[in-house]
Amino acid sequence: QVIRALAQRFTGLVRSGDTVAHWGADEFVFVLTDIRDRATVSTVIQNLIEGLHAPIEIDGQTLVCTCSIGCSIYPEDGESADTLLRHADAAMFQAKERRGNHFQFYERALNQQVHQRLALNMALRDGLAADEFFLHFQPQYDVHRGGIIGVETLVRWSRPGIGMVSPADFIPVAEQTGLIIPLGAWILRRACQQYMAWPESLRGFKLAVNISFQQLEESFVAMVRSCLQETGMPAERLELEVTEGVLMKDSAYLEATLAEIKALGISLSLDDFGTGFSSLSYLQRYPFDQLKIDQSFVAKLPEDGSSGALCEAIIRMADALGLNVIAEGVETQEQLNYLKAQGCNQVQGFLLSRPLAADDLLVLLNKPKGSQSSVDSAVFE
Ligand code: C2E
Ligand code: CA
Ligand code: CA
Repeated sequence: QVIRALAQRFTGLVRSGDTVAHWGADEFVFVLTDIRDRATVSTVIQNLIEGLHAPIEIDGQTLVCTCSIGCSIYPEDGESADTLLRHADAAMFQAKERRGNHFQFYERALNQQVHQRLALNMALRDGLAADEFFLHFQPQYDVHRGGIIGVETLVRWSRPGIGMVSPADFIPVAEQTGLIIPLGAWILRRACQQYMAWPESLRGFKLAVNISFQQLEESFVAMVRSCLQETGMPAERLELEVTEGVLMKDSAYLEATLAEIKALGISLSLDDFGTGFSSLSYLQRYPFDQLKIDQSFVAKLPEDGSSGALCEAIIRMADALGLNVIAEGVETQEQLNYLKAQGCNQVQGFLLSRPLAADDLLVLLNKPKGSQSSVDSAVFE
């Protein structure tokens, strides 16, 4: 119904000789003829964006749509319909990144970037089918006894002919293209399977899995539920890490989704805490169990006074709100001492252990608590 309403509105916004086509899913193609210059195109596009802005009434519900528009011009951006469409698509991809109502003319340099990203996305898709991904687990420690209390799942991609690609490079692309949904589901399932494969007597720790904003769509809770059922993973041992970016979701939807996750018995951790939104009222509104102090603050400890003050404030606030707090990116003994003195009870970082393959983690788990990290056990009380 929305598509129909929009189609009708669009045809009213272009001149009689122009063409409007529904190009599948939520995409439309406009062919504007007799264009004098780019300024004319800009005006038409501005009209479209404004025309789209008026709310649509459907079954008593008021909806507002936004759009991303990419534009290519004959003949400078392409001689054939095919090329023009491809280039308009590339420009749209770029406009989309800026979220909300934006438009973008095709530019050759942009196209290269977009092509690279599309190629990466194809390789990711193939990689998922060809089983090129695997998981590492970074131990999280109790600062008093030195034992492993949890592990964070971190995905790794070994790309044929290229080698290891960092998740910092491919996760953003997977997020943009929606591939994160199947990839994220694979990661969760694989992580739970691996957890259950470690010997039961050593499984006293929790398993944390990173979840991207885009994954929290309609079928997310059902996916998590069936993953728990099929792998036998105990919900109380599973923790999902989300960043403050999830707060961009519709708040009623987010509230309901997070409540369902909690109802399953899973805990929720707020990742990269302190780097996103400034409003803290969401800590009351949403059922988070844990804050993760972002590594950018930890990295500047203990020399940088303001980072120290921030860490302290986060630890106090978490304490007052009854939330657990964990610091990530701990690389030096000084950082560990500082955090410990401030009352931070859990830490994770290269000082204690890098992310490990499942077998290497097993070796650590088999050791006594005080020797499960690369730090001398005397450091722990
Ligand atoms: P993140 O969730 O903040 O993960 C922590 C990152 O910090 C990891 O990088 C980890 O290897 C690194 N790290 C851990 N200890 C230290 C330390 O002491 N010093 C420094 N400098 N770095 C440390 P990685 O594995 O490259 O992951 C980067 C980001 O990619 C993650 O940041 C997360 O946002 C994303 N990511 C990784 N795995 C997944 C996943 O399975 N799903 C999703 N959605 N995102 C993932
Ligand atoms: Ca994380
Ligand atoms: Ca983080």
